[in-house]
Amino acid sequence: MPGTARPWRQPHLTPEQAEERDQQARIERLERVGVMPGEHPAPVDVGVLDTMASILADAVVIADEIHHRTLIAAPEAPSTAYADARPYLNYAARNLHFTDIADWAAPIACKMVDQTARTLALVLDGQFLDVECPWCHGVTEQAPAGGARTWRVYALPGDMIAIVCEGICEPPHREVGTWWRGHPCWPLSDWEGLARRVMPEAEQAAHAREMIAS
Ligand SMILES: [Zn+2]
Repeated sequence: MPGTARPWRQPHLTPEQAEERDQQARIERLERVGVMPGEHPAPVDVGVLDTMASILADAVVIADEIHHRTLIAAPEAPSTAYADARPYLNYAARNLHFTDIADWAAPIACKMVDQTARTLALVLDGQFLDVECPWCHGVTEQAPAGGARTWRVYALPGDMIAIVCEGICEPPHREVGTWWRGHPCWPLSDWEGLARRVMPEAEQAAHAREMIAS
Protein backbone atom coordinates (compact mmCIF):
# COMPACT_ATOMS: atom_id res chain seq x y z
CA MET A 1 0.00 0.00 0.00
CA PRO A 2 1.56 3.35 -0.96
CA GLY A 3 2.39 5.63 1.93
CA THR A 4 2.27 2.83 4.51
CA ALA A 5 5.42 2.57 6.53
CA ARG A 6 7.04 -0.81 6.62
CA PRO A 7 6.10 -2.15 10.02
CA TRP A 8 9.42 -3.85 10.59
CA ARG A 9 12.87 -3.33 9.25
CA GLN A 10 15.48 -6.02 8.94
CA PRO A 11 18.16 -5.01 11.40
CA HIS A 12 21.64 -4.82 9.99
CA LEU A 13 23.98 -6.24 12.55
CA THR A 14 27.70 -6.44 12.35
CA PRO A 15 29.09 -9.93 12.96
CA GLU A 16 30.14 -8.75 16.42
CA GLN A 17 26.65 -7.49 17.18
CA ALA A 18 25.12 -10.71 15.91
CA GLU A 19 27.49 -12.75 18.06
CA GLU A 20 26.63 -10.61 21.07
CA ARG A 21 22.92 -11.04 20.41
CA ASP A 22 23.30 -14.81 20.11
CA GLN A 23 25.37 -14.93 23.26
CA GLN A 24 22.71 -12.91 25.06
CA ALA A 25 20.03 -15.27 23.79
CA ARG A 26 21.99 -18.26 25.04
CA ILE A 27 22.39 -16.70 28.46
CA GLU A 28 18.70 -15.83 28.65
CA ARG A 29 17.79 -19.34 27.62
CA LEU A 30 20.03 -20.85 30.27
CA GLU A 31 18.55 -18.55 32.89
CA ARG A 32 15.05 -19.40 31.80
CA VAL A 33 15.51 -23.15 32.15
CA GLY A 34 17.46 -22.74 35.36
CA VAL A 35 20.40 -24.79 34.20
CA MET A 36 23.39 -24.39 36.41
CA PRO A 37 26.98 -24.53 35.16
CA GLY A 38 28.09 -28.14 35.01
CA GLU A 39 24.59 -29.49 34.52
CA HIS A 40 23.66 -31.02 31.23
CA PRO A 41 20.24 -30.09 29.92
CA ALA A 42 18.59 -33.00 28.15
CA PRO A 43 17.22 -32.29 24.66
CA VAL A 44 13.73 -32.52 26.07
CA ASP A 45 11.77 -30.67 23.44
CA VAL A 46 13.10 -32.62 20.49
CA GLY A 47 12.66 -35.96 22.21
CA VAL A 48 9.10 -35.19 23.25
CA LEU A 49 8.12 -33.92 19.81
CA ASP A 50 9.67 -36.94 18.11
CA THR A 51 7.77 -39.25 20.41
CA MET A 52 4.49 -37.40 19.90
CA ALA A 53 4.84 -37.57 16.12
CA SER A 54 5.89 -41.21 16.13
CA ILE A 55 3.07 -42.33 18.43
CA LEU A 56 0.53 -40.41 16.39
CA ALA A 57 1.82 -41.94 13.14
CA ASP A 58 1.69 -45.47 14.58
CA ALA A 59 -1.76 -44.92 16.09
CA VAL A 60 -3.09 -43.68 12.75
CA VAL A 61 -1.62 -46.70 10.93
CA ILE A 62 -3.35 -49.08 13.33
CA ALA A 63 -6.64 -47.15 13.25
CA ASP A 64 -6.55 -47.10 9.42
CA GLU A 65 -5.96 -50.82 9.27
CA ILE A 66 -8.89 -51.48 11.61
CA HIS A 67 -11.11 -49.13 9.63
CA HIS A 68 -10.09 -50.81 6.40
CA ARG A 69 -11.13 -54.21 7.75
CA THR A 70 -14.23 -53.34 9.78
CA LEU A 71 -15.51 -50.15 8.09
CA ILE A 72 -16.27 -48.82 11.57
CA ALA A 73 -16.15 -45.02 11.39
CA ALA A 74 -12.69 -43.80 12.41
CA PRO A 75 -11.50 -40.35 13.56
CA GLU A 76 -10.60 -37.98 10.74
CA ALA A 77 -6.99 -37.81 9.60
CA PRO A 78 -4.87 -35.74 12.01
CA SER A 79 -4.44 -32.05 11.21
CA THR A 80 -0.74 -31.97 12.06
CA ALA A 81 2.07 -34.41 12.78
CA TYR A 82 1.77 -33.45 16.46
CA ALA A 83 -2.00 -33.81 16.84
CA ASP A 84 -3.46 -35.62 19.84
CA ALA A 85 -3.00 -39.37 19.29
CA ARG A 86 -5.62 -40.34 21.85
CA PRO A 87 -8.67 -40.48 19.54
CA TYR A 88 -6.82 -42.97 17.32
CA LEU A 89 -5.60 -44.99 20.29
CA ASN A 90 -9.13 -45.06 21.75
CA TYR A 91 -10.54 -46.13 18.42
CA ALA A 92 -7.92 -48.89 18.13
CA ALA A 93 -8.49 -50.09 21.69
CA ARG A 94 -12.28 -50.25 21.20
CA ASN A 95 -12.22 -51.98 17.83
CA LEU A 96 -9.07 -54.07 17.57
CA HIS A 97 -10.88 -57.19 18.79
CA PHE A 98 -13.18 -57.07 15.75
CA THR A 99 -10.14 -57.85 13.60
CA ASP A 100 -7.44 -60.50 13.40
CA ILE A 101 -4.55 -58.03 13.36
CA ALA A 102 -3.69 -58.14 17.08
CA ASP A 103 -0.44 -60.02 16.38
CA TRP A 104 0.53 -57.39 13.83
CA ALA A 105 -0.42 -54.50 16.12
CA ALA A 106 1.19 -55.85 19.30
CA PRO A 107 4.82 -55.01 18.47
CA ILE A 108 3.76 -51.53 17.34
CA ALA A 109 2.00 -51.00 20.67
CA CYS A 110 5.12 -52.27 22.49
CA LYS A 111 7.21 -49.75 20.59
CA MET A 112 4.84 -46.96 21.70
CA VAL A 113 5.16 -48.00 25.35
CA ASP A 114 8.92 -48.18 25.04
CA GLN A 115 9.16 -44.76 23.38
CA THR A 116 6.87 -43.22 25.96
CA ALA A 117 8.98 -44.61 28.77
CA ARG A 118 12.20 -43.32 27.19
CA THR A 119 10.67 -39.90 26.71
CA LEU A 120 9.42 -39.85 30.28
CA ALA A 121 12.96 -40.66 31.37
CA LEU A 122 14.30 -37.80 29.25
CA VAL A 123 11.86 -35.43 30.88
CA LEU A 124 12.02 -36.87 34.37
CA ASP A 125 15.63 -37.99 34.74
CA GLY A 126 16.89 -36.54 37.98
CA GLN A 127 13.53 -35.06 38.98
CA PHE A 128 12.26 -35.37 42.50
CA LEU A 129 8.67 -36.53 42.86
CA ASP A 130 6.35 -34.55 45.11
CA VAL A 131 5.72 -37.55 47.33
CA GLU A 132 6.80 -38.50 50.83
CA CYS A 133 8.32 -41.96 50.90
CA PRO A 134 6.07 -44.21 53.01
CA TRP A 135 9.06 -46.08 54.43
CA CYS A 136 11.61 -43.44 55.45
CA HIS A 137 9.10 -40.54 55.59
CA GLY A 138 11.66 -38.29 53.99
CA VAL A 139 14.37 -38.71 56.62
CA THR A 140 17.74 -37.68 55.21
CA GLU A 141 21.02 -36.50 56.69
CA GLN A 142 19.96 -32.95 55.96
CA ALA A 143 16.40 -33.52 57.20
CA PRO A 144 16.66 -35.79 60.26
CA ALA A 145 13.08 -34.96 61.24
CA GLY A 146 11.80 -36.21 57.88
CA GLY A 147 9.48 -34.59 55.38
CA ALA A 148 12.03 -34.24 52.58
CA ARG A 149 11.19 -35.26 49.05
CA THR A 150 13.41 -38.27 48.47
CA TRP A 151 11.91 -40.09 45.49
CA ARG A 152 13.84 -39.34 42.38
CA VAL A 153 13.45 -40.64 38.84
CA TYR A 154 16.56 -41.94 37.14
CA ALA A 155 17.33 -43.40 33.77
CA LEU A 156 19.68 -46.11 34.99
CA PRO A 157 22.12 -48.10 32.86
CA GLY A 158 20.43 -50.72 30.70
CA ASP A 159 17.54 -48.39 29.81
CA MET A 160 15.98 -48.99 33.19
CA ILE A 161 13.78 -46.14 34.32
CA ALA A 162 13.43 -46.28 38.06
CA ILE A 163 12.39 -44.40 41.15
CA VAL A 164 15.20 -44.30 43.68
CA CYS A 165 14.59 -43.23 47.30
CA GLU A 166 17.53 -41.10 48.38
CA GLY A 167 16.41 -40.95 52.00
CA ILE A 168 17.78 -43.02 54.85
CA CYS A 169 15.50 -45.76 53.71
CA GLU A 170 15.21 -49.48 54.26
CA PRO A 171 11.87 -50.81 53.15
CA PRO A 172 11.06 -54.41 54.07
CA HIS A 173 12.47 -56.89 51.58
CA ARG A 174 9.12 -57.71 50.02
CA GLU A 175 8.55 -54.02 49.22
CA VAL A 176 11.70 -53.47 47.23
CA GLY A 177 13.10 -55.63 44.47
CA THR A 178 16.27 -53.78 43.61
CA TRP A 179 18.91 -51.64 45.22
CA TRP A 180 21.01 -49.09 43.44
CA ARG A 181 24.11 -47.63 45.08
CA GLY A 182 22.74 -48.52 48.48
CA HIS A 183 19.32 -46.99 47.83
CA PRO A 184 16.05 -48.83 47.30
CA CYS A 185 15.06 -48.71 43.68
CA TRP A 186 11.81 -49.48 41.90
CA PRO A 187 11.80 -50.03 38.14
CA LEU A 188 8.94 -48.79 35.99
CA SER A 189 7.09 -52.11 36.29
CA ASP A 190 6.72 -51.58 40.07
CA TRP A 191 5.32 -48.07 39.85
CA GLU A 192 1.70 -49.11 40.05
CA GLY A 193 2.39 -50.82 43.35
CA LEU A 194 4.33 -47.78 44.53
CA ALA A 195 1.48 -45.46 43.57
CA ARG A 196 -0.84 -47.50 45.78
CA ARG A 197 1.59 -47.03 48.68
CA VAL A 198 1.38 -43.25 48.49
CA MET A 199 -2.42 -43.17 48.45
CA PRO A 200 -4.31 -40.81 50.75
CA GLU A 201 -3.27 -40.79 54.38
CA ALA A 202 -6.41 -42.51 55.67
CA GLU A 203 -5.52 -45.52 53.57
CA GLN A 204 -1.94 -45.35 54.72
CA ALA A 205 -3.04 -45.25 58.35
CA ALA A 206 -5.26 -48.27 57.83
CA HIS A 207 -2.39 -50.03 56.16
CA ALA A 208 -0.01 -49.13 58.97
CA ARG A 209 -2.47 -50.57 61.51
CA GLU A 210 -2.57 -53.77 59.49
CA MET A 211 1.21 -53.94 59.43
CA ILE A 212 1.37 -53.48 63.21
CA ALA A 213 -1.34 -56.07 63.79
CA SER A 214 0.34 -58.65 61.61
ZN1 LIG B 1 12.42 -43.84 51.43
